[in-house]
Amino acid sequence: MSIPSAPLYVTRPDLPPLEEFLPYLREIWDSRVLTNGGPYHRRLEQALCEYLGVRHIALFTNATIGLVTALQALRIRGEVITTPYSFVATAHALQWNGIRPVFADIDPVTHNLDPHSIEAAITPETTAIMPVHCYGAPCNVKAIERIATAYNLKVVYDAAHAFGVRLNGASVLAEGDLSVLSFHATKVFNTFEGGAIVCPDARVKQHIDHLKNFGFVNETTVVATGINGKMSEFNAALGLLQLQHVDQAIARRGQIDALYRSLLDGVEGLRLPASPVNALSNHSYFPILVDDAFPVSRDALCHRLREHGIVARRYFYPLISEFPMYRGLPSAQPERLPVAADTSRRVLCLPIYPSLADADVHRVAKLIHDAAVSSRRLPVRRAATATPRMAAI
Ligand SMILES: *Cc1c(COP(=O)(O)O)cnc(C)c1O
Repeated sequence: MSIPSAPLYVTRPDLPPLEEFLPYLREIWDSRVLTNGGPYHRRLEQALCEYLGVRHIALFTNATIGLVTALQALRIRGEVITTPYSFVATAHALQWNGIRPVFADIDPVTHNLDPHSIEAAITPETTAIMPVHCYGAPCNVKAIERIATAYNLKVVYDAAHAFGVRLNGASVLAEGDLSVLSFHATKVFNTFEGGAIVCPDARVKQHIDHLKNFGFVNETTVVATGINGKMSEFNAALGLLQLQHVDQAIARRGQIDALYRSLLDGVEGLRLPASPVNALSNHSYFPILVDDAFPVSRDALCHRLREHGIVARRYFYPLISEFPMYRGLPSAQPERLPVAADTSRRVLCLPIYPSLADADVHRVAKLIHDAAVSSRRLPVRRAATATPRMAAI
C-alpha cells in the first residue's frame, strides 16, 4: 500500500512571535559576532546546564555531528551495540567513524534496547553501547551501566528525544559516558538546527570543544582531526528565546498526551504508550501500536488520517537495519530483531505539539474510533490531496 509522502520540509506551528526574536537579532547585528563560541553560544550553554540540571554542555550544529564527535572523543572503535528502532542517524554516526553497528532487539513496552539482547550481542570486538531513549522514555540505565561495567564498555546515549527528561528526580542526560541531544526543528526544544553533548566534567568538555572546532586549541595549534560542529550565534539566540517557552510547551504537550489517553483508552486492538515509571516525561511523541485486533491495518489508518489532512508518522519504519547500507549485517536479520520488526510495522505517532487544540485531538481520536468500528479492512484508495493541517512533528 502506498501512503502519500509528507513534504520533506519541516514546518513548525508553535514558534514564538517574531517580535520576541528581533532584540536578539539586533544584538547579533550590533556586536558583529556571528559564530565561534560567541556570547549567545556561551549564554545558551550556561542556561541549558541550569535548565537541564547537568554540569557541562557543548553545543553543536546538529545531533548527528554531535554523535560522530562523541564517539571520536571516547576513541571508540570496533563494534558498538545499538538499536535498530531509531532515526537512521544513530547508526550513521557509527559508520562515519568506521565502527560496525551491531543491532540488538528492543523491549516491547519501552521500545528501548533490551539489556538481555545487549548482553547477548557482546563479542571480543565490542567497545561500547549506543542506546536511544526512544520517544524520551528513559532506557533501563541501571542495567546498561551494570553491563558496561562488567564488560568494560563505554556508553554513549543518543538522547535526541530526551530533552528535560528526568528519572528518579535527576536528569537522565547525566547517564553513561556522554549523552547527545538534538535541537532539530522537529524536537521538543529546537534551535532550527542544533544539538549538544552533555559532558561529565570540564576536561571532557574542553576536549569536545576542540574537536568541534577542527581540533584547534589556539590560533596555530591543531591537536586532533576535528570537525566543524560549532553552533552559530543565530541558532544559539533562537535557543535562548525558545528556552523561555519550553516549560509551557512541555506542559501543553502533557495535556494533549492525557487527552489522547482518555479518548483512546480501551479501543480494542490499539496499544497506547506506557507512562514512564518514576520519570518526568517531555511528551515528545504519542506512539500508538495498531494490533491485529484493530479492524484496519496501521498503514490503512495512517492513510485515512492523511485523507483528512492529518499527518501521523510511522516512526520508526523501516528499521535502521532494513536500510540498504545495514541490511547485510548478520545482526540486521529481521528474525534476530523480532520485537523491533513487529513494533516498526504497528507504530503510528499521532500529532502532538503545543499549539494543537483540544478540538483537533478530539477529531483525530474520532477518526480512529470510526476506523475501529469499520467491520472490514478498508480498501486502499489513492493519495489524498488535502493540505496537511496537523503533522506529527
Ligand atoms: C533527530 C534525531 C537525530 C538527529 O538529530 P539532528 O540534530 O537532526 O542531527 C539522531 N537520533 C535520533 C534518535 C533522532 O530522533
